[in-house]
Amino acid sequence: MPVSFIRSKFCASRCKKLGALFAVAGLLAMPSANSLSATPAPSTAPPPVPAKPNVKPKTISDWCTPLVARLPKVSLADCKNSKLSPTGANSLNGFPVLFRDIKADAKHPQAIRVLLLGGIHGDEQTASSVVFKWMDTMQKNPLEFNWRIAPVVNPDGLLAPKPRRMNARGIDLNRNFPTPNWQKEAPSYWARVTRSDPRRYPGKAPISEPESRWVYETIEKYKPDVIISVHAPFGVLDFDGPATPPNRFGRLIYNRVGVYPGSLGNYSGLHKDIPVVTIELPNATQMPPDAEVQRIWQDMQTWIRQNVAAPLKTAHNP
Ligand SMILES: [Zn+2]
Repeated sequence: MPVSFIRSKFCASRCKKLGALFAVAGLLAMPSANSLSATPAPSTAPPPVPAKPNVKPKTISDWCTPLVARLPKVSLADCKNSKLSPTGANSLNGFPVLFRDIKADAKHPQAIRVLLLGGIHGDEQTASSVVFKWMDTMQKNPLEFNWRIAPVVNPDGLLAPKPRRMNARGIDLNRNFPTPNWQKEAPSYWARVTRSDPRRYPGKAPISEPESRWVYETIEKYKPDVIISVHAPFGVLDFDGPATPPNRFGRLIYNRVGVYPGSLGNYSGLHKDIPVVTIELPNATQMPPDAEVQRIWQDMQTWIRQNVAAPLKTAHNP
């Protein structure tokens, strides 16, 4: 690797730490005083209707409108065409975790299952946008793998007044997975190594959050053969698990970022034996060029085809 690359990665890490201090916007709305009617209500009157009923989004337009306002290069039409639907899990603030299954074509009836996750950190907007772009590609082309896709795993982080890494309770979802000895290691790692960085707070217990719990349950039920988790802005590939790591996807080159108590890669890759590729895009708010988005997509599929073992599903192979 050129020295400049290493230096820029080092700087990105340090610079991100410098940006760690940020104010949590006040979320408590001040109740407005309703002026009382001059005529007293009869005692049998129904309870007053709240001035602002808590309307939860119910349609794809309701979900897509706030999301695309935060996502670079994703239009409302792109989001609607993704045909996402609710998983049944809601964020702490009540926004649905959305997903879509897109199946392999008829030539691949026993296809490898891929779980594709974007935006587990809410301030890595490109990590969600890229997943929407790949969903568009998937819908227009025959596929050799089965895909379960959740482009926005942390909607509350993305939709916060200022997008933020953590969920609505201030928890880093990517430190909230039940790695062995979590209770002992995750809080002490946070205190000792991150010096209690609020952006990396693992919570008080593993899978304490609805968003991380959804990922955990999906791994249990869907049983993916490989997991792709998209992040930004370190501009590298990371890998955990029982397979040969990818050398490069597009311009992104394999370079270990590290193993952390409670991370998805640590949990799935090292303890569940499900390979996890972590894609770190080079910028959290500016999308790579379209050609690079497609190169990453093509290289990712080549690596899956050549390296992800699905021994029970290859009976059709000679
Ligand atoms: Zn991230």
